[in-house]
Amino acid sequence: SNALAERMRLVTAPGTSSMRSKANALRAQGIEVVNFAAGELFFDASEGMRRHAVAAVNGRRNRYTPPLGMPELRERLAEHLSLRLGVRYAPDEVAVTCGAKQALFNTALILLNPGDEVLIPAPYWETFPTQIQLAGGVPVIVDTTRSGFRPRVEDLHAALTDRTRMIVLNTPNNPTGVVYDESLLRDIGEFARRHGLWIVFDECYGELVREGHVHHNVVSLCPELKAQTIVVNSFSKSHAVTGWRVGYAAGPRQVIGAMHNLQGHTTSNPSTLSQYAAHGVMEDGDPSFLHTVNTFLEDQARIAREIVGEVRSISVAPAEGAFYLYLRVASRLGGRYGGRPIETIDALAELLLGEAHSAVVPGSAFGDPCGLRISYAVETSALTQGLLKIRDVLNAID
Ligand code: PLP
Repeated sequence: SNALAERMRLVTAPGTSSMRSKANALRAQGIEVVNFAAGELFFDASEGMRRHAVAAVNGRRNRYTPPLGMPELRERLAEHLSLRLGVRYAPDEVAVTCGAKQALFNTALILLNPGDEVLIPAPYWETFPTQIQLAGGVPVIVDTTRSGFRPRVEDLHAALTDRTRMIVLNTPNNPTGVVYDESLLRDIGEFARRHGLWIVFDECYGELVREGHVHHNVVSLCPELKAQTIVVNSFSKSHAVTGWRVGYAAGPRQVIGAMHNLQGHTTSNPSTLSQYAAHGVMEDGDPSFLHTVNTFLEDQARIAREIVGEVRSISVAPAEGAFYLYLRVASRLGGRYGGRPIETIDALAELLLGEAHSAVVPGSAFGDPCGLRISYAVETSALTQGLLKIRDVLNAID
């Protein structure tokens, strides 16, 4: 509609939203649908977060805090980052934000001029290119599907122009579940350093890694990158509080200072209650929560890999972190299911909803016309039942 501003052409409904409404329509008919499409754990929030949030309510913590968060939380986060990364961060190099999403949007608005190009490895989390375009930037997509879902420096290099200003890295990765190893991050870090690029380092899933894999941070591997990196993190996934909207950014003082002004005029502070909860949980810890979550996800990933392993001629990303299993089903596109032609990945996702009663996210949401993202953070019985049906439907396409 021409009543809306031009920029709204850049903002389309999230890829998950049409699946959600179709799944709800099936549920309204009394059909049970397994939701493999959610980007969150179904766990209750961590006990520590809940306890400190209740204390904040009862303690009448009802007021604004400074736009970038309570000083004691920024101090705690700076201390935590300094210890974890082995690189010193001061409190004024940290901003508390309404989830990682706001940290990322702030960053794009603050660092990009119109026409500035941003390298984004694909498959990507769909919010990255949308936010970058809203900020006037130009997403430059670098395919990773032929290199094990890991960006190759030669491919990044080939995408470089004199307008390239930034690269977005997300590990553990949404949607692929891949965890970037040390040498890959060192190589990409060196590439960014050599070409003077900003690095946006999204490590929201950093605490959700499968056995045998380790999450690395690019700044900790190359401390000299601190001056050109915005580290983005969140309590959303690690404490199962996606709805509480609390995350953070860490980067150069000047960038964080700009976030203070920007956030002060947009959202003001992230929810005071969530900040108290985040601060409290950092003070007295809740390590058993993550242990429980990761132990559960380990079993789930094993079950998921096993069942999906019985689908012929597809490729499966290695499920090293986060809670996503990523399939590439190019061989099925152009095929038929009981005579019905399946031309696109969206049609395949619809088929899985209708025939396997399973909601998955089609790769069209991630810049990959052949991918399917399946969250294995669902209840175990639903995981098994849903995946067995997905397996059978995929194997019946020829
Ligand atoms: N970054 C990635 C890669 C994500 O997958 C998500 C959520 O799905 C976010 C950031 C946003 O998380 P938050 O809830 O902290 O805004």
